[in-house]
Amino acid sequence: MVIENTIREEIKPMKDWLLEIRRTIHQHPELGFEEIETSRLVSEWLEIFGYQVKKGLAKTGVVGILEGKRPGKTIAIRADMDALPVDEANQVTYASKIKGKMHACGHDAHVAILLGVAKFFSSMKDQVEGNIKWIFQPAEEGGGGGKVMVEEGVLENPKVDAIFGAHVDPFLPVGKIGIYEREGLAAADRFTIRMIGKGGHAAAPHASKDPIIAAGHLITQIHSIVGRDINPLDSGVISIGKISGGTAFNVIPDEMELLGTVRSLTSKVREELKARIEQVTQGVARSFGMDYRFDFEYGYPVLLNDLKMSKLVADACSKGIGEDSVEVLKPSMGGEDFAYYLQKVPGAFFRLGIRNEAKGIIHSYHSNLFNIDEEVLPLGVEMFVRIIDQYLDLKII
Ligand SMILES: [Zn+2]
Ligand SMILES: [Zn+2]
Repeated sequence: MVIENTIREEIKPMKDWLLEIRRTIHQHPELGFEEIETSRLVSEWLEIFGYQVKKGLAKTGVVGILEGKRPGKTIAIRADMDALPVDEANQVTYASKIKGKMHACGHDAHVAILLGVAKFFSSMKDQVEGNIKWIFQPAEEGGGGGKVMVEEGVLENPKVDAIFGAHVDPFLPVGKIGIYEREGLAAADRFTIRMIGKGGHAAAPHASKDPIIAAGHLITQIHSIVGRDINPLDSGVISIGKISGGTAFNVIPDEMELLGTVRSLTSKVREELKARIEQVTQGVARSFGMDYRFDFEYGYPVLLNDLKMSKLVADACSKGIGEDSVEVLKPSMGGEDFAYYLQKVPGAFFRLGIRNEAKGIIHSYHSNLFNIDEEVLPLGVEMFVRIIDQYLDLKII
């Protein structure tokens, strides 16, 4: 296997152990802020490796710290631990044992990889100049566990100078490392609109104010905002994911509710989209003589890599794994709470390819058939080890 040739001799024998860790977590998925067993497994290993361990951040978060013999910079690496409310459909020996819960985003692999890096450095503590911090956070899937970790001081004591995180990528072939130079993922916000009309008999629309027809106009108008109000060279998405209202075929309801998401890569576009959705809603409501409510909930911010740090990741990959493995990626309009760490300290978020068509590993994130090519586990360890070595200038490699 080509990938195997790129893995360091110290990491190769770790493979079975990495698989076991990943599969154990995969069989016992836990949702956001409930990662009790996963968190226990993580802290037990960190203790075995002889690191300083902090537990209970953001409920189930765990931090491992290696304080080097000599002072220097502090680098942090981060994994998320939560699973999703998905019923696994994979027929594998290590399939989820918990009905309705599944590691369908690969966070089980993220945890295994970070523990692999911890295992690697456990026998090299004396050679570390500076500090290494392992951050295992809860609730990436919408819960904003990363935000809570930052608020609870995970980037302090010792103060983190740079942070790196990775996510597996089912669209990238295994062996490839995806790099975002600057913007990686979008700001992911949510809006709720209520069109408030006046209910009545469906046969006498003139005696009521029909919020359904208003909602219809609103949907088409909202979808012209990105095309007409946003600079074509910027990016934005508005999608309405749910509309509800009404009770019967012959009744005009009082209200309709629309739920949607807004994605953007800059705060300028983010604010423009928010303002325009409300203006359009107001205009449509007024034209039908009805009232409206507009709520906008800010979600994860834009994930912005530091240019130097993304270069460092690309370099670490080119030198160790091969130039051909580097894949420069366009930003994705998905969201990622790693963005909260990057708001505070420079760093980079990158992707680890897991796609393998020959093995049938082709399914998207959050699919009940999602899986990873486990060759990514030692490769992920290799990447983080190289990033740490390069950032702290350890020259272990
Ligand atoms: Zn996910
Ligand atoms: Zn994820």
